[in-house]
Formats: sequence, structure tokens, C-alpha cells
Amino acid sequence: MKTLLLKDLTKKYKIGNGQFFVALRPTNLSFDSTGLVSIVGKSGSGKSTLINMISRIDEPTEGEIYLNNIPYSSIKKKDDAKFFNQKIGIVFQQYNLLDDYTVLTNVMLPLEIAGYRKSDSENVAKETLRSVGIKDEQFDNLTSELSGGERQRVSIARAIVNKPSILLCDEPTGALDSVNSISAMELLKRISEKTLVIVVSHNLQLVRKYADRIIEISDGKVIKDVVNKKQKEVSINERKEKRRKSNWINRIVSSNYKRRLGRNIFSIVAFSVSLTMMYLVAGFSYHKDNSIRDACYRQLDFGAGTVALERSTGGNGMLTLKKTERPNLSLLISNSKIHEKYDICPNFASILPSNISISYQNEALNDLIFTPIYSFDEHVDQSLLISGRLPIEGELKEVVVNETAYKRIREIIKKEPLEESISINHETLTNYVTEVDEYISDSFVFKKDMKIVGVIKEINYLPSPKLFYSYSELMEYTKENVLINLSTYFDSKITWYDRVTQAEDYSPMSSYSYTLFLKDYRDREYAFDKSVFTGELVFTSQSILLAESLLNFLDVAQYGLILFLVITLVGSILILSIISFTSFSEDHKNSAILSSIGASDSQIQEIYLQESLFNGVASFAISSLLSYLLSKLINAIIFHFIELPNLIMIPFLKYLDITFLLPIMMLIGIIVITMLSTLIPIHFSKRKTIKGELQSL
Ligand code: ADP
Ligand code: MG
Repeated sequence: MKTLLLKDLTKKYKIGNGQFFVALRPTNLSFDSTGLVSIVGKSGSGKSTLINMISRIDEPTEGEIYLNNIPYSSIKKKDDAKFFNQKIGIVFQQYNLLDDYTVLTNVMLPLEIAGYRKSDSENVAKETLRSVGIKDEQFDNLTSELSGGERQRVSIARAIVNKPSILLCDEPTGALDSVNSISAMELLKRISEKTLVIVVSHNLQLVRKYADRIIEISDGKVIKDVVNKKQKEVSINERKEKRRKSNWINRIVSSNYKRRLGRNIFSIVAFSVSLTMMYLVAGFSYHKDNSIRDACYRQLDFGAGTVALERSTGGNGMLTLKKTERPNLSLLISNSKIHEKYDICPNFASILPSNISISYQNEALNDLIFTPIYSFDEHVDQSLLISGRLPIEGELKEVVVNETAYKRIREIIKKEPLEESISINHETLTNYVTEVDEYISDSFVFKKDMKIVGVIKEINYLPSPKLFYSYSELMEYTKENVLINLSTYFDSKITWYDRVTQAEDYSPMSSYSYTLFLKDYRDREYAFDKSVFTGELVFTSQSILLAESLLNFLDVAQYGLILFLVITLVGSILILSIISFTSFSEDHKNSAILSSIGASDSQIQEIYLQESLFNGVASFAISSLLSYLLSKLINAIIFHFIELPNLIMIPFLKYLDITFLLPIMMLIGIIVITMLSTLIPIHFSKRKTIKGELQSL
């Protein structure tokens, strides 16, 4: 049986405008299973073309090759790598060794690629290296440290280590001096006792000495085919299949990684920056609302406001006319959602506004806001008190101030304000128009000395200086104070409380509203619930308005951040792509060498994929840690300046009630991004053919 059979093998190269160059004319040859066959001929005669088709580096235009009766055309393209590895060994003129690896690794690789265990591969590789005359102490040298003759022997060892059926050598002695050429030929001769060895050579002297058969080619045509000596048949021992996974890819990856350490670190840094940014934006979006609410809850008058009735009184579609008046008290009381959670009180703003004049020993304390608090029990968050105490119940003579007011007062009176008395001096003249158009005037006089007993901590970007007093006590006060002239007119006792509560709902005396106080400050969330105020009821609260405007502001900020994030992410994906593209491109030759000793395309891709994935996973770890630390730092800074607590809180542990959802999503995203940013550039990178890579000198 013939090991190798060439049938009408033809190769034509396209040379533009429909023209062909015939590099090999239809050729028929057959080869036995052993022996050294030499192919000779002038340069450009088609020797490499012939041999490249046998090695499947190149494809024939016409004709067929049979290896052990199996036609090449029946072997699928994707099995090429396996085919190289198991059936064919190739030796090149310029060796094509992996220069950055040791002698031993170069020879071990074909075995490991074939799936042999590392330890077995090592033993066989050493044995083979010794058989080609490489000394043990050279095994761990880099191939670049060897002489030309030694390199060629290593490349022969690599080609035969897998016991191929055919060993193809294209000008193996072309780069060697005569001594090394002879020893290489002797080595090939020895190998040819058990294997078919086809050697392309210029050196006719060597050929005549060693070849069993000489084939001469001229202009792509076999012009001579002579037997030099009698050959003896020796059967080849097939190696028993003993396959185990080898980690040769990992070793190549780690060596590549070290070689490109700087570049890899750069890509980790670039990717980590945008991933950290991603985490921070996620943490910001996740927790900003809570943070703002928590901050806004730290207002003593949170939940206090007014409820009015807004009635539309017509309009033309473009313009709606609205009329505000005080709602009917029974309407509010019958609304259980309001009645249960809020204290409903008359609004005394018409007789006691918040901008009343306050003074200290005849010195005016301007711009203090006189702020009602229903009472200082469970209506307020007592933890906000930072010095002094809260007013005693049933005392309208005691007030607390916020820090801004405290500082303002201290500046003016040049003295510690705590325990000092301030004077409230207010008078409002009101008229009552009788049925006979007569005016009856009375004055609401509120002259009081009030002692500052405590200081309250509020979110410090709310700078209005506030003075808090007890509204329930004010109500008692209005119940005790009588309108003398009006009482005389009606001949019955009318108090200021009566005057306000009994005023018409549409009169200014009603302040067009009721004052509401959240009964328990722990129901603060409830204050955000707009659905409580149904129909035409409108609830207005300064603290809630502020919270809502801050929420809106941060919503807008979030969009900005997300836009910024997308830009950084796209940037780092491009960086990753460019880096893996560059790495892959500069390694073209090594990849071709790996292909020629049997590594498949997908294994070669895996090498670059692993390198990128390692960077991706490292970036994941770094950005997780970094974003955690940064979020703590940023929160501390933000809290220090604007007192928003935990503005950024990254939900590492639980998100949407799923444990580790965020890190898992990040990791999956990172793996997808790194895979795409590696595989897409590799896919589009223009590769020379293996032939082109391995024959370029
Ligand atoms: P050699 O006998 O020197 O090894 P080759 O087999 O490499 O010769 O080349 C045979 C002929 O085919 C040469 O004339 C060469 O220029 C031509 N040739 C080789 N490869 C190509 C190609 N890809 N396109 C066009 N012509 C080619
Ligand atoms: Mg050639």
C-alpha cells in the first residue's frame, strides 16, 4: 500500500485580470511509508507549492491527494489542525520556533495540543530532543539562544515528536553551514527508516548522498523521478491514544501575559475606571432617593403644612381660573386618611404671620421665621436636639431655634443665646363689617417674652433661620383672648379663636386653609403620599416641596451621569478592542507556528480570550473594591458638606431582593464585553495565510 498518492495535482495562481499562473502542472506521484524522498529543482520551479499542498498549508486547484487511502477533500477544513498534528510534521528553512519559549516547551506543545498529559509530554519531548542530539542542559534555554544547527534540530524534534506519517522539510539545510547540513541530513535519514520524509533541497551533493529517491521539478512539471537506493519497509508503531487535558494554553497565556504586562495593566486600569464609575452610578441611582428623604426628614417641621381647597371657576381651555378657599372642616374630619395621621388646626396666619418682629433688648433680630410646631412630644424627632432642651409642654414662653438662627442671634447679641429671652411684639388690626356697613375694629396683640431653651440640628443646606414655638399653646392663647369691640357689638364673648374659626371660608380671616401637623414624626413617609389629599384638596408643605425639588434635581443629575458613563464605557471597550487587536496582530507568526503544529483556530482564539478575560476579571475585582472604598469616601465628603447621608450605596449584597444580583450582572456583562472586544477584532484582523506567515524570511 502506498502511504501517499498524488493524483493530477495542479496548482494555479490568479495573477489578476482573469490570468492564471500555473505553479504546478498535473502531477501524479506515489510514496511508500518510509524512505527519504528528495525534491529538487531551480528556484521558482514549484517545489514549495507541491510540498505545501501535501501539508495542507495550501489547497490544490485540481486533483486529489490520498493519505493512507483517505482523500484530502474528505477531510473537513476544521480538522486541519488535528491533521497537521497527527499525520504531518513540517520543518521549515527558517525553523519557525516560538522564540519566547524554551526548547522543551516548543517540543512539548504538539503533544499537549494533541491532548497528552503534561508529564507524559515532557518525557516524550525530552526523549525526542535527546534523539536529535540536543543536550539535557539546553532543554530550558530559550530557542533564540541556540545556534542555527541546534534550532533546526529542535524544529525537527518538534515535527517528529507526534510520530507523524509524513515529515515534510522545505529547504531544511538552507540556512545551515555544511557541517550542520550534514548532521541534519543524517538525522532525517535516520528518521526516514520509520517514516516517509520528503525533503526539498538545493544541495544536490547532499541529496545524492542521502536520498532514496530523487524527484526533479522544472516549471511546475516533474521531469525526473529516480530511485537512489533500495528502501526497506518498516511499519510505524501508532502511539496508543492516552488523552488528558493539558494546560498548555494556560502556559502560553501566562507567558504572553508577562510579555505584555504593561499593556495589560493599562487595559485593567482603563476598564476598572469605567467599571468603578458604573458601580458608583448604580449606587447613586439606587440610593439617592432614600438619601434625600433621610436628609429632608431631618427637619423639625417636616410634615407641617396647610391644606386648601382649590376650585376651578371656569376658563377657556388655555387658561384656568382658580379660586382658593378654606375647605369645610367636616370634609377634612370625614377623610380618615387625613384625620388619623394629622392634627387639623385653624390657620392663624391672618393674625400671626411667620415674619413677625422679634427683638432682643430693643435690638431687632431680623428675618427669623416664626415656625409653628404642634407640640414638642412625639410630633417631632427629638434626636435633632443638639443642645439645651425642648420647651416644656404648656409653655408658650419657650422656643427652640435651628443652628442657622442660633448663629445669627449669637452674632447680633454677641452672647450665648441659650437661656436668653427675646421679645415678640406683634399687632394685627382686623375689621368686621356689619350689615349696616359699619366697621368694627379690634387688634390682635401678641406681646411676649420667649426664652430660647434649645438648638435643633437641621440639614444645613436649608439656611433659613427658624424659631420653633408650640402651636397648641398658641391655640390656647387665642381661645383666652377676647375681641372687645366685637364682643360688645354682639353682646357675647368672642375670642380670636372664634373669630378665625367662624370666619367665612372665602374670607382672608380664614387664611383660606387649615394648618396640618403630622401627629407622629415616624409617619414621615406618609407625608409624601399625595393620594391622601383627594379631589380639590391641596396640601402645601415647605419641607416636602424642598424634598421633591431635590429629588427632581438629582434625577436630572443621574441622566447626566449615565450619559457620561456610557461615554467612558464605550471608550474603554474601544481601548480593550484595540489592545487585543494589537496583541493578536503582533503574534501572527506565533499563531501560524502553533497552527502548523496542530493548534486549532479556536484554541488560538482561546489564548487571546483568556488574556482578555483575565483582565476583565481583574478589573471586576479591582472596581468592586475601589467603588466600595470610593463610595465610602464620597459619602463622607458629601455628608460633611451638604449632609446627604449615604448618597451612594452600591447594592453589592442584595438587589431587587436577589442575593449578589449586581455583582453577578456586572461579571456577566464584563465577560460579554471582553469576549466581544476580543473576538470581534480578531475576526476582522486581516491574517496572512499560514503559508505567508511561515515562509516570510
Ligand atoms: P520553489 O520551487 O522555489 O519553492 P514555489 O513553489 O515557491 O517555488 O513557487 C513556484 C512559482 O509559483 C513561483 O514562480 C512563484 O513566484 C509562484 N507563486 C508562489 N506562490 C504564489 C502566489 N501566492 N501567487 C502567485 N504566484 C505564486
Ligand atoms: Mg520554495
